[in-house]
This record gives sequence, structure tokens and C-alpha cells, in this order.
Amino acid sequence: MSDRKRKDKVLLIYTGGTIGMVQDESGALQPFAMERIYDALPLLHRTNYIIDSCQLERIIDSSNMTPEFWVDIANIIEKRYDDYDGFVVLHGTDTMAYTASALSFMFKNLTKPIVLTGSQLPLGMLRSDGRENIICALEIASSQHMLIPEVTIFFESHLYRGNRSTKVSAENFDAFSSFNYPSLAKAGIKISYKPNLFLPVPTGELKVRKAFDRRIAVLKLFPGITPSVVQSIVCIPNLQGLIIETFGSGNAPTEPWFIEALQDALDKGIIVFNVTQCKAGAVQMRQYQASCDMDRIGVIGGHDITIEAAVTKLMYLLGNFPDDKDKVRDRLSKSLRGEISTDIHEDCEDL
Ligand code: ASP
Repeated sequence: MSDRKRKDKVLLIYTGGTIGMVQDESGALQPFAMERIYDALPLLHRTNYIIDSCQLERIIDSSNMTPEFWVDIANIIEKRYDDYDGFVVLHGTDTMAYTASALSFMFKNLTKPIVLTGSQLPLGMLRSDGRENIICALEIASSQHMLIPEVTIFFESHLYRGNRSTKVSAENFDAFSSFNYPSLAKAGIKISYKPNLFLPVPTGELKVRKAFDRRIAVLKLFPGITPSVVQSIVCIPNLQGLIIETFGSGNAPTEPWFIEALQDALDKGIIVFNVTQCKAGAVQMRQYQASCDMDRIGVIGGHDITIEAAVTKLMYLLGNFPDDKDKVRDRLSKSLRGEISTDIHEDCEDL
């Protein structure tokens, strides 16, 4: 077949989540097998691109997501990378932003779209948002109109950069948002793309890195937090990384016991990463006195990173540089896949 006539091909990968769920006898929602997606959506046979499908060996509620599943998804895509123009991953909404972030770091020099989507209502239900989400995600991944060389999330008319996205609603159809980066496309009567916001198409060879180090913790600060809570986290055996979810532009208590606990962590070689609890805006160390001590002792500022991207980036960097904490620290401050707004866009060859 000549290249002009060749139909685009998309691989649809089902991982679980509400989109493919049915009710069991007790009324609880449970995942079911992939073939049902075609029963629920016969329209899929009418698209003008070819859709193949597969599913993870074990389909899950995404609350059970782990780095091992990220590797399973990446393996499927890597093995069939040359055979398809794009990939759609059907995923539960609860941890979709984590998976999208993790995949964005794993795939260096990505030149094909990987679009994650899911739904708030099961596909089998009359008012399901899943139909629209899947069809738009497939169209975007089929690259018919525009090549988006990124891992993205499509949900309720918006296409977001995956590592900028956050689940914001447990009930509305527009369940996701991207507070610190505009959406890459909007689906109305037509899908309107904003190519000036896409990552540039890379020229290097695709590399897929699959190492993650799970030995991290997230400590969310709150007024009244006690020394024993902070110290008990710092004392976790073999902890390698600690994300502190701070107030506002990266602020934390200035009390000596708090800074001493962080100093203890740093002395043990634990990387301490400062990520704001605010949905929009960025950590700016030294803007207030309440972040000066952290900056002085070597806590790393997370800029405007989401917590989902922070968790996965830290696991990814620790997994890939197990013996080089300086590199982990250095790369945390740089944008690897457009996950933070910074002028530092050095190409980190090793990542
Ligand atoms: N608990 C489900 C999941 O994340 C919710 C959903 O799919 O929206 O797998």
C-alpha cells in the first residue's frame, strides 16, 4: 500500500479503571475484560484509522497502581512502538496523573503521542463520559491532524500535558486540570491544537528507562504538626528521598526542631524536595524567611511541579542514578519533559 493510502494505526491499551467497570452483585464497581469496550462502543469500528487493542495481564483499579505497572505499560508501548502511529492508555482517573508523569520521564525522545484517558462513569452507562473521551483520545493519538510528541491526558474536552495534570474532581466530568501550563488542545466541533505549546519533536533515538526507586516519602505539612511525626518519617530505614508539601511559595515552620529534623535527613543522604501544596504557582525559596533555612541547608525547590510529577520524578531519578545523589539533585531542578517552568532546558543526555 502506498504511504499516502496507509491508514494510521493506534494501539489501545486497557489497564482498568471506571471506564471498563461493571457492578458486581453487591453493587460495587469492578474491572472487566477488554472485549466489553467494543460491546459498549461499537462506533470504534467506524473510525478511519486502525485500532488494535490489548490489556495489562492484570487489570486494576488505579488505586493499586505501582511502578511495576508503569513498566508493564511502557513495555507494551516500547515493543510495538514501530508498528503504531500513536497509543491510547485507558486508565482509572485516581492515579492517572501519576502514570502520565511516570511515562513522560520513562520515554526519552518520544516522537509519537501517548494519550491517557478514562471516565467518571462506566462506559456501559447511558450518560458515560467515556465514549467522548475515548474517541477524542484515539483521534488525537492517530496523529491525523497534528503530531504531539508527548505523554498527555485527554479528559472532557481538554488535552493536557501529562506531567502537568492533576485530578481535581471526584464527581465532575471535567475531572482534570493543569494549573501551571495551558491545555495543548481543546475539543469542540473541531479539535483545536496549540502546537506552539507542544514539546519539540526530538531527533535522538527513543530510549525507555524503567528503573524506579520507591524508597521515598511525602510529608504534607499542616499547622500544629508535631516533631514526632516529622522525626518518624526522617527515621524510616533506607529512605532515599523526602518530598515536603509546604505552604504557599514553599514555606515551612522556622522552629529549630523542624530544621534540625530536615538537617538530619540531609545528613543521612536523603534528598529533600520542597513542593508547594498550592495547585497554582511555584516554590520560591528565600521569598519569605520561612524558606530561607531550608534553602541554606540544601533542600531543593520544586518550582511549579505537581505532586504527581514530583513523586514520579524523584523515584525515576533515584532509580536511574542510585549512586549519584548530586545528579539527582541537579536534575530535580531541571525540566526533563516540560514538567516545570524553568529557563533551564539543558538536554540531559543521560536522562
Ligand atoms: N477508582 C477508579 C480508578 O482510578 C476511579 C476511576 O477510574 O475514575 O481506577
